[in-house]
Amino acid sequence: MKTKYDVIVAGGGFTGVAAAIAAARGGCEVLLLEESNSLGGSATRGLVNPFMPYFTPIHPKEGETRKYLSRGIFEEITHRVAQLTKEVHGEDAKYTTQPYNTFSEEYLKVVLNRMVTEAGVKVLFHTSVIGANADNGKLSSIIIYNASGVTTLEAESFIDCTGDADLATQAGFPFHLGRDSDHLCQPMTLCFRVGDVDIPRFNAFRPQMQALYKEWQAAGKIKNIRENVLVFSTISDTVLHFNTTRVVKLNPTDAEDISKAEMLAREQVWEMFIFLREAVQGCENCQLLSTAMQIGVRESRMIEGEYTLTKDDLLECRKFEDGIATCNYDIDIHNPEGTGTSHYYFAPHTYYNIPYRCLIPKGAVNLLVAGRCISSDHDAQASYRIMPTVCNLGEAAGEAAALAHELGCSTRDVPTNELRARLVANGAVVD
Ligand SMILES: Cc1cc2nc3c(=O)[nH]c(=O)nc-3n(C[C@H](O)[C@H](O)[C@H](O)COP(=O)(O)OP(=O)(O)OC[C@H]3O[C@@H](n4cnc5c(N)ncnc54)[C@H](O)[C@@H]3O)c2cc1C
Repeated sequence: MKTKYDVIVAGGGFTGVAAAIAAARGGCEVLLLEESNSLGGSATRGLVNPFMPYFTPIHPKEGETRKYLSRGIFEEITHRVAQLTKEVHGEDAKYTTQPYNTFSEEYLKVVLNRMVTEAGVKVLFHTSVIGANADNGKLSSIIIYNASGVTTLEAESFIDCTGDADLATQAGFPFHLGRDSDHLCQPMTLCFRVGDVDIPRFNAFRPQMQALYKEWQAAGKIKNIRENVLVFSTISDTVLHFNTTRVVKLNPTDAEDISKAEMLAREQVWEMFIFLREAVQGCENCQLLSTAMQIGVRESRMIEGEYTLTKDDLLECRKFEDGIATCNYDIDIHNPEGTGTSHYYFAPHTYYNIPYRCLIPKGAVNLLVAGRCISSDHDAQASYRIMPTVCNLGEAAGEAAALAHELGCSTRDVPTNELRARLVANGAVVD
């Protein structure tokens, strides 16, 4: 096995894929490491769907067109998934026009495989990053484990897109977990799909379903503490997607806690399935089709970076000179302790950007961290964690690694004006 690359990307979610593609397109030899059997991360392993909004809403009086905040590689991916959907289901297929929301994760897996291959990225599936060797902020090598055993790999620069900041942690860079007051993270959720549903009847019954759900909770037949049923459509006319289980007060980076979370969430899936069959019109004959391969983690470690994005930055819609991605998704906090979900919605036409410094662990020379684990506080993370935005963060990290390679400097010293110019030239939105 080849053991030396220009850039190594750990984690193949939306973030890691975008990082790897951007670095490879920028002329680097790139290795992408992913511990599951597909690319897409939460979208595929976690069955997370749909894309949350990534545009500023049209102000009706001004008659403006919509401004998309997530473009670049995210737009390429979503266009290609839409195109594949049309090829299979016809030109009029649902969910094939912008702004994209619902998508097939199976079509996404195919598109991501094709895009990394076209860019020349080498992918190792079933490969876990388990260690790192660092000195004075510089990573010299990382250690991986896979079917071939334990291997040490070297690179000029590394990009941690593991969601949990695994690589940065292994290399000894500081992080914080969850909210400052008690380190609790947003709840974990095991997503699942239910098939053979009569969806028109289900939709007509939805308001009554929410009332019945509360009755079942009060009667102790539903132990899930979530306040309501969170359900979405899928590309199938008979399948529903549920993002409704809720496990709180457990640490997603603790082996015992995450195992307990999987157990608790599976029982919640089961009680929900029984509820649907027994009490919900349109679901009398439904089937439990699938649960995600892994419980979904909204929040865990966030690195201590050269800048920490805060709730105030978002409320002020701050724009930073080294901004590399934009977002205006609401500050969407599923209660880390129990029932309830809070939202802060941005006014139409307002958004913030995210500085490049949030991707640099304090003191790191050749390591970038991208995705839901960049340097921020709990509230800010609740907004930028959505798939469109993390994809933009990954693209910026990959572009930065390519620029560092070209200039012969470290990722830490990349000239951010040039980085931003290149991102914009590739269609990304930076401010
Ligand atoms: C339940 C839930 C519902 C959500 N709902 C929505 C929604 O409706 N819309 C939306 O846009 N966003 C939603 N989100 C947020 C969004 O899905 C995630 O924040 C985002 O996908 C994170 O992307 P990422 O690439 O940073 O991390 P991930 O998607 O977690 O990807 C990390 C990848 O790294 C791999 N990995 C991890 N550790 C290692 C290691 N040590 N070695 C090798 N590989 C490793 C993992 O296998 C994974 O593929 C939701 C999240 C959750 C959990």
